[in-house]
Amino acid sequence: MFTFQPPLNFLQDKTIMITGASDGIGKCCALYFAQYGANLILLGRSKAKLEEVYDLVDKIKPNSTVIHPLDFGTASELNYKEIAASLEEQFFALDGLVHCAGILGPRTPIEFYSADDWELTMRINVSAAFLLTKYLLPFLKKSMDGRVVFTSSSVGRKARGHWGAYAVSKFALEGLMQVLADELDNTSKIRINSLNPGGVRTAMRRTAYPAENPSANPPPEVLMPLYLYLFSSESRNINGQALNFKDFNPSIYSRPAQSDE
Ligand code: NDP
Repeated sequence: MFTFQPPLNFLQDKTIMITGASDGIGKCCALYFAQYGANLILLGRSKAKLEEVYDLVDKIKPNSTVIHPLDFGTASELNYKEIAASLEEQFFALDGLVHCAGILGPRTPIEFYSADDWELTMRINVSAAFLLTKYLLPFLKKSMDGRVVFTSSSVGRKARGHWGAYAVSKFALEGLMQVLADELDNTSKIRINSLNPGGVRTAMRRTAYPAENPSANPPPEVLMPLYLYLFSSESRNINGQALNFKDFNPSIYSRPAQSDE
């Protein structure tokens, strides 16, 4: 088991934005990052769910969190610019950006994949990450140690049939990660990587594998040492890498193989 245990205050005075913070892996990141002292900017589609997460996080680290409900499926470029502008008013720099938001889209062969579903999945899974990262780069550059993590998927590295736009969107995220990492490698201190979490017990996983026993998969908490590691000084030399949670934690998957997304 990968057991990275940083000091409890290691994210003190750092400001980190998390997308998809209203549920699943993103919500778990929010709770953990708050425990380690981070100021948080949380994005999600549902205002009600984000407010619930806000209440939990605020108990851990009072008065240090901002929420921004935004539907990436309908958001305009201006919405992303406004988020960046509001950040400028409240924080000096952005130290981290965790992209977790995503949708599965239909599990349908390409021949029958609707253009609308394709468009929406790419918009939420890729274009939102592009626009947010683009407009936040000036703030990430102000950080002494900026980090960006894209949450990827197994099918974004080796595609499988019936995974449609979801798989293609994850390939695109890997490409975006590599382009950014290369552009920023020698010109900034920002480190940009992608992480494939493998199968994790969340709403998305339940939708993807409805016949599966949910308890067959580990909860999102098991990923947290690795997410925290990617925000630590120990990972300062890791840049432009497509990381797999499995590679850090082979024992979790030693039982009969589960498919992952
Ligand atoms: P969940 O379904 O639990 O959470 C998805 C998050 O994305 C929610 O916060 C949701 O917001 C947000 N989101 C969905 N649609 C939109 C939208 N239109 N606008 C803004 N936000 C939106 O999924 P997971 O936590 O499982 O997934 C997190 C990431 O991990 C995803 O990128 C996924 O592809 C990846 N992943 C997950 C795996 C798994 O086994 N769970 C395996 C491989 C990759 P709201 O709750 O408000 O709707």
